[in-house]
This record gives sequence, C-alpha cells and structure tokens, in this order.
Amino acid sequence: MTLVPTFATPPGFLGLPLRTEAPGIAIAGIPLDLGTTNRAGAREGPAAIRRASRMLVDGAHPTTKVDPTTLPLADIGDFSLALGDLARSLELVEQQAAGFAHLVALGGEHGITLPLLRALAKRVGAPLGLVHFDAHLDTWPESFGQRFSHGQPFFHALEEGLVEPKRMIQIGIRSPTDPAVMDWTRDRGVTVISAIEAHEAGPAAVAARIAEVVGQGPAYLSFDVDALDPAFAPGTGTPEVGGLATWQVQAMLRRLPGLDFRGMDVVEVCPAHDVAEITALAAATVAWEYLCRPA
Ligand code: MN
Ligand code: MN
Repeated sequence: MTLVPTFATPPGFLGLPLRTEAPGIAIAGIPLDLGTTNRAGAREGPAAIRRASRMLVDGAHPTTKVDPTTLPLADIGDFSLALGDLARSLELVEQQAAGFAHLVALGGEHGITLPLLRALAKRVGAPLGLVHFDAHLDTWPESFGQRFSHGQPFFHALEEGLVEPKRMIQIGIRSPTDPAVMDWTRDRGVTVISAIEAHEAGPAAVAARIAEVVGQGPAYLSFDVDALDPAFAPGTGTPEVGGLATWQVQAMLRRLPGLDFRGMDVVEVCPAHDVAEITALAAATVAWEYLCRPA
C-alpha cells in the first residue's frame, strides 16, 4: 500500500506512470469530440477521468478483491489525432489501437468506438459480442448529414459485420428517436433494453439478460456515460433524463464475470458541464469495475 495520499497521486489513470508500451492491458485517452452533435467538450474527458481515478487507488475492489494496480496494466497516454479532421482522426485511432492486445479507452466522443471495433474485430478475426450502455441507439445512418458523428458508430459496426447483432445488447436507451432507426436496429436482431425496462426489471435481471445475449465468444463493452441519469452524470454532451443510477451499473457489471471481454471504452465525459467531478468519477469507476472483474 502506497504512502502517497490520493490527492497527490500522479496524473496517469490510477496513478500509473505514462509509458509507450503495455504488457497486457493498455489504458489510452482519445481526446476527440469533432463528431459531437450537441455540446462539445469531450476532448477534455481523458484528463478528467484520469484525475478522478485517484479516488480509486487506495485499495482493492471491495467485492472482487482485485487490486488493479497489481495487473499487467499501463497508461500509454493519449492517442494522436488530426486536429479539425474527423475522418483522418478516426483512421489514426484505428491504426494506434491495432498496436495493443487489450485496450481500455477513455473518451472522447462515441464516434471513437467504430475504429476501436474495427481494430479489435480484425485482431480477433470474428464478429464481436457487444454490451452497449447508452441513452441513444447510435445506429442512425446519419446525423445532420454527417455519416461518422457520435450517432453512427453502431450503424457502421453492424453494416461492416464487426459486431454480431444477435450478441449485441443496448441498455439504458431513452432518447427521442426516429422509429425507423429503432426498427432497423431491432430488425437486425439487436436486443434493446430501455432505461424504464431496466429500472422496472432491476439490475440482476438485466445482467442475466446481458449474459444470455452475449453468451460465449469474444465481446466488447462500450459505455456512454449518458446511459447514467443527468443526476449522476451531468457532464456529458447529450443528456437525457430518466437514466440509470451509478449503483445500478455497478450491480450489473459485477454480475458479468463469465463474459470474454477483449476491450472496453467509456465515452462522452464532458468536464466543462460536470459538477464536482461526478461524471468523471462515474466514468473512472466504470473502467475500474471493468479492470477489477474477477478472472
Ligand atoms: Mn453514444
Ligand atoms: Mn449517448
């Protein structure tokens, strides 16, 4: 146990020193927000999540007893991006992600998930199972004429065969949407659980459904922080009321030890709209829950 107080923790995620290579799991910031459709500012997310993660360094996970600082884990800093160029930035994300066996990405906007899934599906050599927490479907074919904004990552992931639709589940969905987009998503075979359904069923039932849908085989976790209610995550670009509580997400994630996750991201933290680091701490905690899941 370290003698350094939490407030003096070095600036890497969980106080990890910044390195260029990762022995096992790489933590990477991806400070992109060019594809946001409402409030911008998720480019500041990685730094805020790292800063908030210092609350998580003074012990092991209370339930799984995993101390993430004992894992083969490195913070490799932030990915390089092309300033002002969304398409080129997405290419750069894919290229850089290809160099890591297991990536935990700190966003940044949700558009980064498409190149992350492209890199991972190529590495795994098969379509992935997907656990997607979000207020939004993110399967719109376009948003305001833009085909690669943060509203499209899973449209393309499904179209490109990166994700197996019958092994994909979305939890927390509740935004206004085009009914045709919802129909398209469900017709593909994707399981959609609205926020109200999740509230009424409870975390244990939702976790059981996630495990059933994703089943065996390589899987990915994509966590849009706006899946949480604005009371628990005000610092985000497209907030929607009626969302999940942070404890509900923890209660779900702790019930998924059997899934074969090969990577994850937590996205859409927008610190300029945050209050008292609530959102950044929630995002850091979701990544920490992922890292601390039992083997
Ligand atoms: Mn999203
Ligand atoms: Mn969203």
